[in-house]
Amino acid sequence: MTIPAYTRSGYRVTESNLPSVYVQSAWDQAPFEKKLQALQADRIAEIRAVQRASEESLSQLRFQIGMITLGTFVTVLLGGSLLVRRSLKPLKQVSAAVSEVSEKDFLLPMDGSKLPGELRPIVERLSLTLASLRSAFDREKQATADISHELRTPLAALTTIIEVTLRKERSSPEYREALQDCREIARQLTHLVDRILMLARVDAGIDRTCRTSVDVSEVLAGCAAVARPLAEANGLKFSYARNGPIPLATDPDKLRELVLNLLHNAVEYNRPGGTVELGGHLDGRNVTVEVRDTGIGIAPEDMVQIFERFYRADPAREGTGIHAGLGLAIVREYVNRLGGRLHLDSTVGVGSCFRVELSRGDQE
Ligand code: ADP
Repeated sequence: MTIPAYTRSGYRVTESNLPSVYVQSAWDQAPFEKKLQALQADRIAEIRAVQRASEESLSQLRFQIGMITLGTFVTVLLGGSLLVRRSLKPLKQVSAAVSEVSEKDFLLPMDGSKLPGELRPIVERLSLTLASLRSAFDREKQATADISHELRTPLAALTTIIEVTLRKERSSPEYREALQDCREIARQLTHLVDRILMLARVDAGIDRTCRTSVDVSEVLAGCAAVARPLAEANGLKFSYARNGPIPLATDPDKLRELVLNLLHNAVEYNRPGGTVELGGHLDGRNVTVEVRDTGIGIAPEDMVQIFERFYRADPAREGTGIHAGLGLAIVREYVNRLGGRLHLDSTVGVGSCFRVELSRGDQE
């Protein structure tokens, strides 16, 4: 039934002010009441059953969630430790290999290519460090062997002279001669030890380079004064043409030492009637020092090696105490120290030319 919005008297009817209609009945309500109560009791029983079922399901759900959480925790714990153990395995391999490195060969006993990519550069670096340690160790061993070898001959000569002299009573001039021989050997030994110390100081980095303003032509004149009598005593012609001042900021002691070494060799490895020439030039920003000889020359296969310590191209000069094969090693170290460059031209049977180039940099 549709309710008109307004009655005839103009009363406005809305949902809230709908008029209520009360119907009074004379029926007995008691049977309905009982039915209603029975229905209500059923409903309450149903609701309790549903409540019990829900509580059971809830506690089951709680138990399941608890089990799942526990399971996840145990899995993460076990899986995590397994994962960590697995990723640490290569590190353990590296550590085991490092502990097996022996000072005899300094080799890392493992194949780096089988390791994970992140560890390979570390193992490569480690192998390189071990290789440089090995070569330093080898150099040390070689140096000890070379030094002992060099000292043995002059020491044996010294012992022999003393023993032979003491075998019987001798005259004063004989004792004098023996003592002079001993003094000569002692000088050679001192020279050898001085050179070994020079190189040791360079290696240890305690050999300081003291640069000062020098006139290179003055330094060369001093070297010429030492080498000329030596060359002439060996029947050689010696020349040094001085071409005006050659200003340079350098270490004069090192320059003198390296030029004297080159001059001694030029005299030593010359041929009868040969020549030794010393020259110094200023060429733009470069100062060039040249030591040229008409000596025996150096074979191409020896050209690199002669700068190595204790290397002699001519083994016949071994054991003299003077020619220990250290002169050119010192020359090379000193040229490096002075920031210069060393060049060698040589032809067997014709002669050699050692050239040292020193840069003047921004000097005036
Ligand atoms: P050493 O004390 O034996 O002279 P160096 O280091 O000065 O040692 O020289 C190494 C070797 O190089 C020498 O033993 C010699 O064989 C060779 N050598 C050096 N300078 C010359 C040169 N001017 N002419 C020919 N050979 C040379």
